[in-house]
Amino acid sequence: MSIAAQKSDPPAWRALLGYVRPHRWALLGGASLSLLTGATGLMLPLVARDLIDDLSDDRAITGALVLMSALVMANAALGALGSYVLRRTAESVVLGARRSLSSYLLRLRITAVDRSEPGDLMARITSDTTLLREVTTDSLVGLGTGGLTLIATLALMGFVDPVLLGVTLAVIVGAGAVLTLIVPHISRAGRRAQDAVGVMGASLERVLGALRTVKASGAEPREERALHEAAEESWRQSVRAAKWSAAAGNTAGLAMQVAFITVLAVGGARVATGAIDVGTLVAFLLFVFYLMMPIQSVVGAITRYRTGSAALDRIQEAMRLPAEPVAGPAVLPAPGAAPAALAFEDVRFRYADDLPYVHHGVTFTVPARGMTAFVGPSGAGKTTVFSLIERFYEPDSGTITLDGRELADWELSRLRSSIGYVEQDAPVLSGSLRDNLLLGNREADDDEVARVVKTTRLDGLVAKLPEGLDTLVGHRGTKLSGGERQRVAIARALLRSPRLLLLDEATSQLDAVNEAALRDTVADVARTTTVLVVAHRLSTVTTADRIVVMDAGRVRAVGTHRELVTADPLYAELAATQFLAAGG
Ligand code: ADP
Ligand code: MG
Repeated sequence: MSIAAQKSDPPAWRALLGYVRPHRWALLGGASLSLLTGATGLMLPLVARDLIDDLSDDRAITGALVLMSALVMANAALGALGSYVLRRTAESVVLGARRSLSSYLLRLRITAVDRSEPGDLMARITSDTTLLREVTTDSLVGLGTGGLTLIATLALMGFVDPVLLGVTLAVIVGAGAVLTLIVPHISRAGRRAQDAVGVMGASLERVLGALRTVKASGAEPREERALHEAAEESWRQSVRAAKWSAAAGNTAGLAMQVAFITVLAVGGARVATGAIDVGTLVAFLLFVFYLMMPIQSVVGAITRYRTGSAALDRIQEAMRLPAEPVAGPAVLPAPGAAPAALAFEDVRFRYADDLPYVHHGVTFTVPARGMTAFVGPSGAGKTTVFSLIERFYEPDSGTITLDGRELADWELSRLRSSIGYVEQDAPVLSGSLRDNLLLGNREADDDEVARVVKTTRLDGLVAKLPEGLDTLVGHRGTKLSGGERQRVAIARALLRSPRLLLLDEATSQLDAVNEAALRDTVADVARTTTVLVVAHRLSTVTTADRIVVMDAGRVRAVGTHRELVTADPLYAELAATQFLAAGG
């Protein structure tokens, strides 16, 4: 996992404010309700003081009791409304973070995905964002309302008896000193707990993504251990965080008990000397009792924030991975317009700075229309040519042009929308056959779908399936055969009416009959579209208008089959062995 925090990264609270800002008024409303709740609670001791001082007056007693009941009821109603508004706002903050994180992850550069664990990224969207809920309510609001209530309560206490306030403050400052020692432990454990959840997500994704292989290899016990280890690590760290949080909470609790006893002792002495009356002492003691709640929420705010900031850091780390630009400088002609011409000019490329070059100056040109075949040994860099055309990666040097303009000058989404790309392993997504066909062109109507289904010889399959095009194909299309998956992938690409069609060993798993039919279809398409194929079958290669022979990241030769058989020894050898062996 190479996603890691940088020294210069902005602090987590800055990011938190970013997510909270759109909801600031709702948050302020909720916080005000909480404050009002606190205020109605705070008035009780004052009423109680008057009540105790006037115990001989019946009417005063009744009045005070009615007032106290009203205050208690208002307190409950405001409290309920306040917590609803706050909780709702906190959920909106989570929603906002999930939205921006999922949008961002869809735009990630393939290089960023190459270097990270999809399962860990998933955990950042699903699990880490959840923690924002508590951070918003408990930390932000807790700190705001708790802090204000604390100050108000202390002010009232000073108003009632400054000496006793001094005693109380001394205890609070002592407790604060202890808390500063505890809090860093909470952040550290919180971060490790969330990282462990990420590791668990990564292991799960790996195992479930290849469950057949795991089972066939008998690797369940090993994978099970890895999953349990990650779960246990998260448990260990969460328990550690809980331990320190509990210590923090109880430090606050203990401080209040100490304050209560000290105030009782000092206050009792002051009552004895006549400095204050009994009503004042009782009111003060009630205030100490009421201090408990704001102090707990301030301490809770700090501990919650320390756990939640770990999640925030993880979210922000994901949001700093390199992503593709949202819009580019120029606009490409609409898809379906003229077929594209393509040129590579001395392209050098490596997948990462610490990896060897894969392309050492690749040069070739492909005119508009017609079929160009790429052949060469495995690892020669053929698939990489297609990845560069799709701009999944950027070349380190050299230029790639489409219709005479550099790829980087076209707007990325429009560039891709004019290309039909069938990847080497013909991925099929879970969902229905129809979903898969329409993936690249949601607008295609039933006639177009039917036509493409026929030209890719999927009509037999569709007729055979109980629910036709609406049949579910299973996770990654496991309910289809390899050849069927390839034909689905080709149909999907054709439905886009591309200007440029890229087929990477797209018919490698087809039987001879289907392969011949698809070859005719592709030859047909090549009359009006630019088609690039990576092929291992002689039959496909010989029908191509030109053949680019690649080896070890270089273009060795370009020509027709007839020319190359005599001109290029490697091609002659491939033609004699590999093409034939592949069933061509
Ligand atoms: P071909 O399609 O001709 O078999 P590729 O273009 O797939 O070859 O691969 C060329 C080289 O690049 C291979 O050595 C391969 O290991 C390496 N390679 C391919 N994809 C990646 C990647 N995502 N990250 C790092 N190396 C890669
Ligand atoms: Mg390949």
